[in-house]
Amino acid sequence: MTTTPIHQLLVAIEAIQAAAIATESVRHASAGGTLSALIKGDASPVTVADFASQAVVLSILQSAFGHVPLLGEESDGLLRDPANAAILDAVVAAARTAIPELDHRTVLDLLAHERADPSKDGCWTLDPVDGTKGFLRGGQYAIALAWIEEGRPHIGAMACPRLALDLDDPSQPAATGLVAFALRGGGARWMSLGSDEFESAEPLSAPAWRLGEPVELLLSAESAHGDGDAAGELGLRAGPLGRALRLDSASKYVLLAHGRGNAYMRVPRISPGKPERKECVWDHAAGVLIAEEAGCVTSDLDGRPLDFAAGPTLAYNRGLLAGPPALVRAIAPSAGPA
Ligand code: AMP
Ligand code: MG
Repeated sequence: MTTTPIHQLLVAIEAIQAAAIATESVRHASAGGTLSALIKGDASPVTVADFASQAVVLSILQSAFGHVPLLGEESDGLLRDPANAAILDAVVAAARTAIPELDHRTVLDLLAHERADPSKDGCWTLDPVDGTKGFLRGGQYAIALAWIEEGRPHIGAMACPRLALDLDDPSQPAATGLVAFALRGGGARWMSLGSDEFESAEPLSAPAWRLGEPVELLLSAESAHGDGDAAGELGLRAGPLGRALRLDSASKYVLLAHGRGNAYMRVPRISPGKPERKECVWDHAAGVLIAEEAGCVTSDLDGRPLDFAAGPTLAYNRGLLAGPPALVRAIAPSAGPA
């Protein structure tokens, strides 16, 4: 089936907006109470919302494009366990808030989709709920979808169902959220969640940073997800540290693209005897493109370009750095386009 990047982008936006209906239905169904999670083999949490979101996104991509290669975070394994039958029921109910035709079998089939290899031709990558810990706590989370080709994201769409750009403390959930998106070479934009007015979406443009200006770090809310002290030390290479923003999920890329904070860093925590953790492709592909199209530069902590074709993780990179060109190069001089 032939398609154009614009068509792919519009379908991607449709898919993440629908997924946000499903994820927010899970939040509302909890009526402010505690949301529960299953624990995956890697000890990370997964909720009804993660599964429902992935099923909804893939269903919409398949309706538009037929079979699609997808590197998604979730899979069907846990839901096929009879002990989790009630959770499967809840996943299907959540997915049906967005696509009423979905049933148990279709949802399981969608989640059984084979993981695509990003080193091959081109593939979608999806984090159906990025920042699951934030989602569980009532903090920020994001639904992040990107198209990767030749090791780089070319289309990126991200729903941040609780993010507002004008809040004094954007880590706090807003009443309504937003969608940010970008096409390589076509700029980055944002609009309100649920809107279909793509033409009037607002441009995202990160302000330039000049030597001597404060370095405002964007960091994970979960301190286990990165070494904040080491990030601060790296930031000091560029200039005095300003106010840091700590919040969950790839929402940080949207704030960076808007000029709220200017140095998004992920510095892996080193645990003696353990291999260094590598960043996941689905966590960063959409956000990296949105930041780059807003005028930022991205690299790893050693200034190497991010390689999205290494497998499910950025296996050839160490941590991650994103910000206005002058700031990133003050920290990692070889970073950015030659
Ligand atoms: P954030 O809210 O920015 O910390 O991003 C959430 C993402 O952090 C999740 O999707 C995980 O893939 C990732 N993550 C989980 N554990 C770790 C860890 N130990 N170090 C770095 N990132 C992690
Ligand atoms: Mg994630």
